[in-house]
Amino acid sequence: MIDSHNHTSFSEDCKIPLNEMIESAISKGIKHYTITDHLDLDYQDKRFTFSLDHQARREAIFKAQAFYKPKINIYYGLECGVQPHIIKEAEAVIQKEQFDFVIASMHTTHKKDLYTQAFYHGLKPLEAYKAYINEFAWCCEVMNEFSVVGHLDIVKRYDLSLNEVNLEDVKDEICQLLKIIIEKGKGIEINTSGFNDIFQHAFPHPTILKWYKELGGSIITLGSDAHFPEKIAQHYEEALNQIESCGFENITVFKHMKPFEIPISDVRASLKLDIL
Ligand SMILES: [Zn+2]
Ligand SMILES: [Zn+2]
Repeated sequence: MIDSHNHTSFSEDCKIPLNEMIESAISKGIKHYTITDHLDLDYQDKRFTFSLDHQARREAIFKAQAFYKPKINIYYGLECGVQPHIIKEAEAVIQKEQFDFVIASMHTTHKKDLYTQAFYHGLKPLEAYKAYINEFAWCCEVMNEFSVVGHLDIVKRYDLSLNEVNLEDVKDEICQLLKIIIEKGKGIEINTSGFNDIFQHAFPHPTILKWYKELGGSIITLGSDAHFPEKIAQHYEEALNQIESCGFENITVFKHMKPFEIPISDVRASLKLDIL
């Protein structure tokens, strides 16, 4: 069992201590557990900083790695918020910390927050969708220090009118982003928190996952984006069905920024064991 996207109290928006999250992961039968707390440099909603105490966090995670071995493999990861003007600074941090895994996520566009909806003002849904994808593509073109792109189409979560956009109308932009990801040897994550909203799918939408496969994409990671213990490995059954229906046979896990694959059949088998 795998969960490659998790938060702890080192993230500004999570109150659950590291050990509590790990204990829950163990109880759910997780073997590969990646902690990806938020680092969002120059976050636009100034009520938050989304900064990290890297030293304290690194020490705590390394200690937990040793303590919980061999019950669970814990990986030192990061969810890095990307914006065009902070990429150099973010990459310096990533190189210094030598993470196992880095998710590049966009939580802002045009220097405006998605969560507070500031970004969407004055934009039609299709314009907003395209602007978000184009800025994400720009960042992925420039940035090298990441493993996968996080919750690729999360832009529709904070303004549901974007959920009405016909994906064919934004296909060119999305495929351009996917091509950059593939050419760089990076991947995309399947983020099962999508099922928590009105959406009947993980992020990204299965249509986008199909395009990724058709373009030659092969690296997909699987994560719940849990901020609470009970959310770890949420909605995996449905997510695995969608992943397999798009033609994928393996889930990728990263250690020392290097990918290794686990067959989906193995993930399914451990999921069943857990339910029993
Ligand atoms: Zn995120
Ligand atoms: Zn997250």
